[in-house]
Amino acid sequence: LNAKQTGDEYLFFCKEMDNKVKKHNLLVEQLTQAVKNNDIEVYFQPIIDIENNTVAKFESLVRWNNQGQWVSPAEFIPLAEESRVIIPLGELVLLKTCQQIKALEAQGYENFVFNVNRSLFEFTEFNPERNAWLETIKSQGVKPSQISFELTESVLAPENTNHLDVLTQLKQAGCLISLDDFGTGYSSLSYLRRFPVDVLKLDKSFIDEVHVDLGDEALVKSIIQMSRVLGIKVVAEGVEEREQLAVLTEAGCDYIQGYYFSKPLPANDVVPFLTQFSREQ
Ligand code: C2E
Ligand code: MG
Ligand code: MG
Ligand code: MG
Repeated sequence: LNAKQTGDEYLFFCKEMDNKVKKHNLLVEQLTQAVKNNDIEVYFQPIIDIENNTVAKFESLVRWNNQGQWVSPAEFIPLAEESRVIIPLGELVLLKTCQQIKALEAQGYENFVFNVNRSLFEFTEFNPERNAWLETIKSQGVKPSQISFELTESVLAPENTNHLDVLTQLKQAGCLISLDDFGTGYSSLSYLRRFPVDVLKLDKSFIDEVHVDLGDEALVKSIIQMSRVLGIKVVAEGVEEREQLAVLTEAGCDYIQGYYFSKPLPANDVVPFLTQFSREQ
């Protein structure tokens, strides 16, 4: 009886694994097709400059509706990375961002900076001979200074010295560099001196309790002070409460991103948001 039970369990386990693999492969296949067919959307989340209460930037965030169901980037970005679809996906996000910049420009809205996410794998595969990112920006007639590439600390790790060349190339062309999710990786403050970082994005995990936890408040304050000394601007991510905004303002934070001001918006909702925001000020 024991042996039989074990056998059944094993069979069950195999089936479950098999289903997982099948589902995984199907998702990769569907994502690949979606990217090929331009069936990917980009949403834009406003980033507010708290000194003068204006919208200064947007973060471009990819959205995928797979046959009527939204799939979270947290689920499909890893799939895109392992299947290399992240390369054309990243290109598409940048292209759609440039198109949004031009569309806003045509309606009289100029000089916003758009933040575009880039994962480590996109740097590993980067061909500096043909800088595809700069090619896209230039071919769309966008000023490189309107694009900030968001990367995580992993890109700056010591073994990735060649990524410094890529970053330097982008910087020389006029693009900005933002360090995303700051504080969640193996952050070494020395990275900030070695790499040409313009903006640091304080991870949401530091912001969540910044208004109730004195330790978090102290940490956030000292990161902001250090950044100021280094000439680096600070964005707080995931701000949802008025009390968080108050602490961050007092701490001298430069920019606020989060649901408190706005969720990521579909392209067509950006101008209505801007109109309403300026009316409320
Ligand atoms: P991220 O770059 O750190 O982006 C911020 C995430 O926080 C977004 O999630 C955004 O919707 C969410 N967020 C913003 N404000 C708030 C808030 O107040 N409360 C809460 N609870 N969440 C907030 P999203 O869009 O699901 O993206 C998740 C991650 O997927 C991103 O984190 C980024 O790492 C990755 N990702 C998204 N788009 C791209 C892309 O085009 N390329 C690459 N390589 N990665 C991307
Ligand atoms: Mg980001
Ligand atoms: Mg982030
Ligand atoms: Mg994050």
